Amino acid sequence: MFELPPLPYAYDALSPVISEKTMRLHHDKHHAGYVKTLNSLVEASGRRYASLEDVVADNTSKKLFNNAAQAWNHAFFWECMSPKRGAPAPALGQAIDAAFGSLDKLKAAFVTAGVDQFGSGWVWLVADKDGALKVVATHDAEDILTEPGVTPLLVCDLWEHAYYLDYQNERKGFLEAWFDALPNWPFAARQWAAAKGDGGAWTYPAPTAERQAA
Ligand code: FE
Repeated sequence: MFELPPLPYAYDALSPVISEKTMRLHHDKHHAGYVKTLNSLVEASGRRYASLEDVVADNTSKKLFNNAAQAWNHAFFWECMSPKRGAPAPALGQAIDAAFGSLDKLKAAFVTAGVDQFGSGWVWLVADKDGALKVVATHDAEDILTEPGVTPLLVCDLWEHAYYLDYQNERKGFLEAWFDALPNWPFAARQWAAAKGDGGAWTYPAPTAERQAA
C-alpha cells in the first residue's frame, strides 16, 4: 500500500504565495484522492510493486498510470517547494547560467512554458540524458519518469486546483510568484548532483510492508 506522504512543512508555510486553504485541499483532497485510487487499482490488479516508480513505468493501464503518476508528481512537487526563500548553490547556478543565460532567463522560460501549456499539466526544470538543463511541460498526469536518463530538478503544478483559489485565472501571476519565492534550491541541487551520478535522485516512499506481505 502506498501512503500519502505528509507535507514537509506546515499547511500555512507557503502563504501568501500559496494559501493554507489551497494547500489543505491540494494535499488532503487531490493528492490523497490519487493515492487512494492508486491503491485500489493496484489491489485490483493483483500485481505487486516494489516502488511507485515501478507502477508508473508499468504502462498497462491508463487509469493506473494517471493515478500513479499524479501520486508521484504531487509528492515530488511538495519537495520542490520551501518556505525558506533561497537561491541556487554555485554549481547549479553556473549550470543555469550556462543553459539559460541567467536565473531570470530560466524564470522567463519556466513561466512561458507553464503559461503556454494548454489545459492541465506540469512544468519542469530537468537535466536531460546528456546532462543539459531544460524546461519542459507535460500534459495532465504525464511526467518525465518515463523518459530514460531524465532527472527532474523542480516542478510546478499547472492544474487549476493548484492556483485557482489564490490567483483565479492568473496562471502567469502564480508561476511568477512561485518561481520568485518557493523553489527548494537545495533540493534541486541534490537532484542535479544525482543527475551527474553523485548520489540518488528523490524517490517516492516505498509501499508499506503489510500490503506487500499480504
Ligand atoms: Fe495538483
